[in-house]
Amino acid sequence: MSYRAPVDDHAFLLEHVVGLEQVRATAMFEDATPDLTQAILLEAGKMCEEVIAPVNRAGDLDPTHLENGVVRTAAGYIEAYTAIAEGGWVGMNARPENGGMGLPIALTTSVNEMMSGACLALQLVPMMSQGQIEALEHHASDDLKARFLPKLISGEWNGTMNLTEPQAGSDVGALTTKAEDNGDGTYAITGQKIYISWGDSDVVQNVCHLVLARMPGAPTGTKGISLFLVPKRIPDDAGNPGVANSLNVVSLEHKMGLHGSPTCVMQYSGATGWLVGPEGGGMAAMFTMMNNARLGVGAQGVGIAHAAYNYALAYAVDRKQGRVARQGGGTIVDHADVRRMLMSMKADSYAARAIALSCAIAIDMAAATDDATWAARAAFLTPIAKAFGTEIGQSVANTGIQVHGGMGFIEETGAAQFVRDVRVTAIYEGTNGIQAMDLVGRKLMDGGEAAFALLEEIEKQAEASRGRFPNMAGAVWDAAESLREATEWMVGQSDVDERFAGAFPYLMAWGRVLGGHLQLTTALADTPGGARERLARFYIKRLLPEYTGHLTHATEGAKGLFDMSIEELQA
Ligand SMILES: Cc1cc2nc3c(=O)[nH]c(=O)nc-3n(C[C@H](O)[C@H](O)[C@H](O)COP(=O)(O)OP(=O)(O)OC[C@H]3O[C@@H](n4cnc5c(N)ncnc54)[C@H](O)[C@@H]3O)c2cc1C
Repeated sequence: MSYRAPVDDHAFLLEHVVGLEQVRATAMFEDATPDLTQAILLEAGKMCEEVIAPVNRAGDLDPTHLENGVVRTAAGYIEAYTAIAEGGWVGMNARPENGGMGLPIALTTSVNEMMSGACLALQLVPMMSQGQIEALEHHASDDLKARFLPKLISGEWNGTMNLTEPQAGSDVGALTTKAEDNGDGTYAITGQKIYISWGDSDVVQNVCHLVLARMPGAPTGTKGISLFLVPKRIPDDAGNPGVANSLNVVSLEHKMGLHGSPTCVMQYSGATGWLVGPEGGGMAAMFTMMNNARLGVGAQGVGIAHAAYNYALAYAVDRKQGRVARQGGGTIVDHADVRRMLMSMKADSYAARAIALSCAIAIDMAAATDDATWAARAAFLTPIAKAFGTEIGQSVANTGIQVHGGMGFIEETGAAQFVRDVRVTAIYEGTNGIQAMDLVGRKLMDGGEAAFALLEEIEKQAEASRGRFPNMAGAVWDAAESLREATEWMVGQSDVDERFAGAFPYLMAWGRVLGGHLQLTTALADTPGGARERLARFYIKRLLPEYTGHLTHATEGAKGLFDMSIEELQA
């Protein structure tokens, strides 16, 4: 089986569901015409199917390894990455004045999702570089931009993000890496960072690390953190990789999946770095990269969900087993329980994709219009796109194994690789628990304004569709109303622990309800009785109702969570 890029679904979603037309109506994105959008999706889909997907298995079987201090990737990775870089895919949404294509994030998200489904481990390279490019565009000095952006945008160099240290994971404020002023405009960076994705490799000429560190005397916690650009090789006057910086890869992690991606322990030993953004403004600057990456990771989950579905479907139409009651080809695809799994996989992948693209549209609109309402919408949707997309990635990949039966447990089908690879997407870029806490914490800090505005839109659309689709519209309206009540409950909790206790199920309920809304929008845009309308019916009837369980859980608050002592938990 091989990967099949979901080009048609992306084109349909962008043009008819999530509102790319609003984005191209702005001066910033007027070049993203329907013809260009279609050409880009087709070209990206072709590259994913023909160039990237074929190296996916090699990366799993032959993990990246250190050879005399040099990180070596699996066979075909250099060629596949070169195709990504030379195709201009790294700099898709970078600004044209820096050498990028200036395309909307929405289109970049579509391409990133397809690349993730084709080979998640390799797709991390362009995705991380894109985040770094955006952070530098917003926060770096003109000199740094001129020296680094062209090479990052061309993909000749890659970008990494260095937050994590052994004692500083979710608690980034606990980091201890030091930055001392060299007195010549540079800083000496000293410390150890762990889990650094693509901290070194043989697919690029140079690596640009964005490193969070603390200057002497800086306040404790996140307020005392600054951001530095620390290249592996310091660019010479001609802009080429020059002398080696004082940093090295200590080791690579052995992981349950994502074997093709080098996850590095990095040692900085007085390495030369340049300050990005103001002193003490490191977290704000890094958040530009992190927000970009959060949406990107959500799309990674969707990409794997789609790939797992591709594989499961191909197996199901081929595998003969048991007597099939219905008329059909006599393979397991005609068993009702297998159909249930395949329909759920397809409907969930589509819904999570629609959510990621809606989030991307809000980001584009915020950038193009400077409108605070769009910015609030983007901020609200980002944790949902990240966590819901990656939860769906996991559940769909897991169902993919079930469709394969015993063969799903056997590595040669590739179904197991999806489960192993996608697992980390719920952990990195802020665990899904941290995303959920962000949703009920910072993102409801406005008293729920962004949440209620979105619910208003969902209800209005459901109301307007009652004539054509009474059952679907009614179900979506009811779901939005229940979510409104739960949101009122959340906003009313002054004890933050009460909110945090229900944060994750609350986020999942949002995913379900947004999925229902976007499925309904799809049904409205489809030809009457079309396949997309039928898939929407399946989702709204069978998968949307999960929101009720999530909301019951969410509004229980912290009650009962601490009713058992640690000793009782251990008994
Ligand atoms: C393959 C891989 C690649 C990675 N790539 C990078 C990279 O490129 N750059 C980088 O900087 N990092 C990277 N990471 C690190 C990753 O971002 C962290 O693992 C992640 O942020 C979680 O931190 P932790 O592992 O220390 O877990 P912990 O923070 O110890 O969390 C353990 C559990 O406790 C929960 N938890 C922690 N704090 C709280 C809290 N306050 N409230 C509620 N629950 C809490 C978490 O949700 C989680 O369930 C990578 C990790 C992996 C595995």
